Amino acid sequence: YNTLDTISWMARDYGADDIVRLVDALTSMFRIGLSHGKDFISVQEEITHVSNYLYIQKIRYKDKLNYAVDVPAELSGCLVPKLILQPLVENAIYHGIKQKRGGGTIAVTGRMSEEGLRITVRDDGAGMPPERLAALREQLDTMRSLAFRDQLTGLFSRHYLTDYLEERIREDSNETNIVLALCDIDDFKTINDARGHQSGDIAIVCIADILDDLAGNHPVIRWGGEELLVVLFSTPDHEALRLCNRMREEVAAYRIDDGTGEFSCTLTFGLSAYDPSLTFAENFVRVDRALYRGKETGKNRCTFAQPDTAGEQR
Ligand code: GH3
Ligand code: MG
Ligand code: MG
Repeated sequence: YNTLDTISWMARDYGADDIVRLVDALTSMFRIGLSHGKDFISVQEEITHVSNYLYIQKIRYKDKLNYAVDVPAELSGCLVPKLILQPLVENAIYHGIKQKRGGGTIAVTGRMSEEGLRITVRDDGAGMPPERLAALREQLDTMRSLAFRDQLTGLFSRHYLTDYLEERIREDSNETNIVLALCDIDDFKTINDARGHQSGDIAIVCIADILDDLAGNHPVIRWGGEELLVVLFSTPDHEALRLCNRMREEVAAYRIDDGTGEFSCTLTFGLSAYDPSLTFAENFVRVDRALYRGKETGKNRCTFAQPDTAGEQR
C-alpha cells in the first residue's frame, strides 16, 4: 500500500490524474481483496471491488469495453462471500467481449427477490455455440453426479448428504416427521473372509438395490463401507419401522448369487425421528446408538431410539 500510495502522490505531483485514478482503483481492489481476512463482505464493498476491476480493464480495452453497474443502494448492507463477482466479470471479458469484433457491454445488476439477493453478470459478447453450451452443461452434470453418487452401488454418496440433503432435512424437520434409518450388514466380515471381497461387493450392490426399490422417493445413501442410510421424509415413526422391517425381511430372504453359489445376508437397522432442536450429528448419534443396541441384542432387527427417554424398543 505504501508503494502504491507513493506512486499515487507522485502522479498527483505530475498532474497525471489518469494515473492517480488507476493506482487508487488498484489499491482499493487490493484492500477489499484482503478485507482483514474476512470471508464475507458487504455488497457495497463487493461492488466497489468489481467496479474498480472494470475501471482498470476499461483503460486497457478502451471503446471495446463498456460497462454498467446497477445495484440499488438498499442492498449495500447485505453480506456476500468475498470476491464472487470479479472472476465472472473476468470471464465475461476474456471469453465474451474480447472474442467479439467491436467489443461489447458488461452489465452487473443486483436485485432482491423472494429467494434472496440475486446479482447477475451479463455480457453481449461472442457467446458460445449451443452445442458447446450443451457439452459444458453435460460435463457439469457428470461431475455433479460423480460426486453425489456412490461408484459401486449407484446410491447417493455421503457428499450428497453433507452438501445438500442435511440442509433439506433440517428445514423440513420443523414441519414434518423425518426418520433416519441406518442399517449395517450383519457379520459381513465373515462373508468377505469366506467368499472373497468381490462377493462382498456383489452383496452390497444387491442389498442397495433392494433398499432403493422399497424406499421409493426416499433417498438412500451409502454412508460407509457396508452401512446404508435411509432418510424417510414425512413418515410417521410406526410407518418407518414397518418399512425398515420390510427391507430387512426382503434382504434376509434374497438369495445373492456371486457366480460360485448362493448366500444371503441380514441387516440390523437403527432408527430415530429427527429432532430439529439438535444438530444433524447429534441426531445421528441417536441412530447409531439404536443400531448398536440392535447388534448387541442379536442382529437382524430394527431398533427405534425413543426421542425423549434413554430406552429403546424393538
Ligand atoms: P457386524 O454384524 O457387527 O456389523 O459385523 P461385521 O463383520 O459386518 O462388522 P465389521 O465392521 O467388523 O466389518 C465390516 C466389514 O465390511 C469389514 C470390511 O472388510 C467390509 N467392507 C466394508 N466396505 C466394504 C466394501 O465396499 N466391499 C466389501 N467387499 N467389503 C467391505
Ligand atoms: Mg459396519
Ligand atoms: Mg457389519
